[in-house]
Amino acid sequence: MIHLQSEELLHKTIENFMIESDKVAHVQIGNNLEHALLVLTKTGYTAIPVLDPMYRLHGLIGTNMIMDKIIGLKRIEYEKLDQIPVEQAMKTDIPRLKINDPLLKGLGMVVDHGFVCVENEEQLFAGIFTRRTILKQLNKVIRNFNK
Ligand code: AMP
Repeated sequence: MIHLQSEELLHKTIENFMIESDKVAHVQIGNNLEHALLVLTKTGYTAIPVLDPMYRLHGLIGTNMIMDKIIGLKRIEYEKLDQIPVEQAMKTDIPRLKINDPLLKGLGMVVDHGFVCVENEEQLFAGIFTRRTILKQLNKVIRNFNK
């Protein structure tokens, strides 16, 4: 049993650990599925945020959601890709964090999600909090603890 007493880490907020919005790949409302698929393929990410021009978060679009939208009864209907806007395929019921939420709240959420979108006080997209980031921190703390 590991007793994690790194007060310093546990009392920090999500803001200290998130990837800031300017480094997060995203698509905009109105972009079509072909564009989203290009971004997802080029970046190698499984899902990315869908934002509007004001930087409000509307949902997430992932390769699985795109494929689901273009799978017909007998074949994959690739020709539909440039006709469907991302808002018709994105997932809107998504977990969200606030920049001032405690790290522990984010830790609980990334048990079930590879990353969670973070919003600021004005409800604008601020960045993402990823499972990788928190695992890196915990890895450091646990290794130092055992020294
Ligand atoms: P990672 O923790 O780096 O393996 O990322 C897990 C998931 O978080 C990726 O598959 C993406 O869906 C998302 N993600 C991570 N970093 C970024 C980024 N810079 N821009 C957009 N999405 C990201």
